[in-house]
Amino acid sequence: MRTSNVGITFLGGLGEVGRNCTCIEIDGKLLLIDFGVMFPDVTMPGVDVILPDNRWLKERSADIVGLIVTHGHEDHLGGVTHLLREFEVPLYGSELTMGLAQHKVKEARLENRTSFQVLSDGDRLRLGPFDVEVLPITHSVPQSLCVVLHTDQGVIVHTGDFKLDSDPIDGRVTAMERLAEIERESGVRVLMADSTNADKPGWSPSESTIGETFNELFPQWRGRRLIVSCFASHLHRVQQICDVAISEGRTIFPLGRSMVNNVRIAKELGVLDLPDRSVDSIDRLNEYDPEDVCIICTGSQGEANAALSLLARGHHPDFSLVSSDVILLSSHPIPGNELPVYRVINMLTRIGCEVVHDGYEHVHTTGHAQRDELHQLYQTVRPEWYVPIEGEHRMLRRNADVAIEAGHVPSRIVVASDGDQLALDGAGLRMSGRIAAPYRYIDGLLDDLSPALLEDRRKLSEAGFVHVTVVLNMEDGLLAHPEISTLGWIDAERSVQVLAELEVQVAEAVARALDERKDVEGIERVIRRATGRFVGNRTRRRPPISATVILTD
Ligand SMILES: [Zn+2]
Repeated sequence: MRTSNVGITFLGGLGEVGRNCTCIEIDGKLLLIDFGVMFPDVTMPGVDVILPDNRWLKERSADIVGLIVTHGHEDHLGGVTHLLREFEVPLYGSELTMGLAQHKVKEARLENRTSFQVLSDGDRLRLGPFDVEVLPITHSVPQSLCVVLHTDQGVIVHTGDFKLDSDPIDGRVTAMERLAEIERESGVRVLMADSTNADKPGWSPSESTIGETFNELFPQWRGRRLIVSCFASHLHRVQQICDVAISEGRTIFPLGRSMVNNVRIAKELGVLDLPDRSVDSIDRLNEYDPEDVCIICTGSQGEANAALSLLARGHHPDFSLVSSDVILLSSHPIPGNELPVYRVINMLTRIGCEVVHDGYEHVHTTGHAQRDELHQLYQTVRPEWYVPIEGEHRMLRRNADVAIEAGHVPSRIVVASDGDQLALDGAGLRMSGRIAAPYRYIDGLLDDLSPALLEDRRKLSEAGFVHVTVVLNMEDGLLAHPEISTLGWIDAERSVQVLAELEVQVAEAVARALDERKDVEGIERVIRRATGRFVGNRTRRRPPISATVILTD
């Protein structure tokens, strides 16, 4: 019997938190698992999101049989509209994940580029040469899936994001029994496991423990308006907030685009159990007494344009905060977001609001497995090969160490990076190649900004720029004073003297250049150099400098 080898290509998520994308190859066909975005940090000014690179996929576009989305988070699902603009790919995922995907795809008017195939827990299906089984796994968005591939080379397990929550809100626990059964029946050759929290000891608290805190806290806030912020996709959190708020006699007001949309979608799909009489629209807020209200809003990561930031700055069109309001941040800043989150909290406390967050109350728990959970998964699956996925390199490395602690042979761990290609055959799992997998930066309608452009933006953001215009003819020289324009370098109105000195420097440089019979390009170069020297000496700054020579007869 002919046996097919298996290829694995990592297009994202191995070296960063975000833009997760793993591509499995059998018989020349490709199956994508997740296509997420990553959010920019301060070194990427103006960038909206970062995607997996698409060049390799473009070469292989005819071979793609589908995209399985493990769950509805942006770092796994968020790139789907960008993907569909280039490729027609059918989407597979749980009912909620497909509901969220459909909303995005519809908004982008790309429905004719795909189909939405809903998978139920335990489903097993054929996608071209792929024999796929999907299992329930717990995480911080409902209906997350673990992907099991049955191949000629044995079973491959891809966890997606997960934690092992023994008491999830919907009672849907991780399919540990089925994983154990697979291990007993055929063994598992490769386990790819979430690394995000591998460096945290112990076991992450169950999501249901957060509801217990809410039960203690909410009664303390009776008589005051309550505003709660959390991830709009964290629907089990939303459920727990709503349950306690409603039992306290409050009406729920979803606020912020993604919160309003997700609550609607989750209600329609029965993921969120929320009686219609207990929810109202924010434009009817004034009809309620403050103590009867629980506003549940976006912005828990300090995002500048989200509801909570707008409220904190007093810029929200629907209502203003007052000092008697209680603000609950049922969230934890994603690494890198601490600064904007604290900025928002500072603005809220200046208003006089009471701000409650996970720094001192148990109002948030992670969705990612910690060390003991990774051990438990490892002991259940007992894979021949272990591949840490989903995380910065230090997290992948730590996940590898966790596997070694659990008894895994170090030589059978592959710590890969974005762009690495692995091959699984009778001999084992090995690195087989490497493709380019750089960040693909998206800014508005601009696609694939180059690193050089970002470098320009960084320079501009640090030092501003200077532009010099001169009008001259080759015989008489300058016909007017050089004109210096600057943005962000110095305060032009307060620095008249500096600009006047620069004008003199430029005029002298132009005169010398004309004596040397330089052409227009040569003169522009001389101006840039003279300006750069002056700016550097005078202000110890190196802003980008440009020059224009206007030649008259
Ligand atoms: Zn996730």
